[in-house]
Amino acid sequence: MPNDRKYTAFCGLYCKDCIPSNERLFQLLRDLEKLLIEIKFDEYAQLKALNISPYKNYPQFHEVLGEMRKLERKSLCTEGGCKEDCKIRKCVIGKKYEGCWECADHKTCPLLQYLKEIHSIEHNLAMIRKYGPEEWSAYRGKHYCWL
Ligand code: SF4
Ligand code: SF4
Repeated sequence: MPNDRKYTAFCGLYCKDCIPSNERLFQLLRDLEKLLIEIKFDEYAQLKALNISPYKNYPQFHEVLGEMRKLERKSLCTEGGCKEDCKIRKCVIGKKYEGCWECADHKTCPLLQYLKEIHSIEHNLAMIRKYGPEEWSAYRGKHYCWL
């Protein structure tokens, strides 16, 4: 039996699909940042910028790398990860539900609206209801609308 419950977020997302949970991505970012600092790529970029103008943006690139690293989340939704002050999590816990799939208001809930614009929330909630939170993940929808 797959251990889907562990990765099933209160809102119907599957935690392993989120970019902030992508271990490989964050390992690569850490390695890249470390290497760039080690070889002082900033000084090399200054030199290259004399002839190749995109290198003038190297400081911004480095800043973006740092911001990307801050996106990392090691805890799952049900362990308090993702958004610390998530209103959806508070609402679900307050209503003593396992997740939004148990809520009769999920179609009109304003708290889910933003997520629905990006993720397959309605589809996921229907799959969790049909197959149960332990065994639904094989039927989940596209995590990000652009993938
Ligand atoms: S913290 Fe909120 S938005 Fe994030 S996965 Fe959990 S319920 Fe969904
Ligand atoms: S009202 Fe229902 S659907 Fe909306 S966040 Fe709360 S439990 Fe989820």
